[in-house]
Amino acid sequence: MSLTNCKICKSKTIFKFEKMVLKKYLVRYYCCPKCDFIQAELPYPLEEAYADAIVEKDTGVLFRNILLAEKADLILKKNFNCRAKFLDFAGGYGVLTRLMRDKGYNFKSYDRFCKNLFSQQFLANDFIDSNEKYELITALEIFEHLENPLATIGLLAQKAKAILFTTELIPENQDLKNWHYLSTDTGQHIVFYSSKTFEYLAQQLGFYYYTDQVSLHLFSKAKIKNLIFLKNNNKLIKAIQFLKLGINFVRFLPKAQFAINADSKLSE
Ligand SMILES: [Zn+2]
Repeated sequence: MSLTNCKICKSKTIFKFEKMVLKKYLVRYYCCPKCDFIQAELPYPLEEAYADAIVEKDTGVLFRNILLAEKADLILKKNFNCRAKFLDFAGGYGVLTRLMRDKGYNFKSYDRFCKNLFSQQFLANDFIDSNEKYELITALEIFEHLENPLATIGLLAQKAKAILFTTELIPENQDLKNWHYLSTDTGQHIVFYSSKTFEYLAQQLGFYYYTDQVSLHLFSKAKIKNLIFLKNNNKLIKAIQFLKLGINFVRFLPKAQFAINADSKLSE
């Protein structure tokens, strides 16, 4: 079987390169000349790549969640209704939901495949079927796993005013065959996006598109005025965390009480 059409814009794709995946499958990667999307043609059932929903080699999972929570906090405070409902799509162990709830946001988590460990009381198990609308949905390192990205991202677009997500953009001027994000030892990354892909997708779905040009992206139905996150501001985030550590030490009890109160109120 050969893939011929782009999963995003339906244009005819072009064979780009092939690479050994899971140490035993020769996978062919196809590129779309119109929107620059890259998709893998899988010679193996995708389930084989998912013995564990969160693969053992993913040592960056907590760091990513903490960093995204800080960035999301900045973005939400400046641009969105912080009292509204939020959802972390494919939220895994529920780490981001926990971190965002600790900051006072009404976040819930949805994940069909992974057991939630950190925010079990705040699951949105009926997410797919319900008519619930969200101020913003987060999707951390999810889009590169999607077998049918148009359907999934389209679903999120119906349910939220904005989507904040991470996935690494296809790098320019690099030998893609050796790009680490192909994740050939896990076999889980199967689709890849450029900023051109997301610009096309945002236009189709009625969003404005904002990006840090590396891995953090925002689709928003309203124009975003404060783009602080567009600066690759990890130093700024670290400074904020350092300051908060000091402040929270002083205010530890009231802060913890606030988090407990916020959660007990919402679970009633
Ligand atoms: Zn395309």
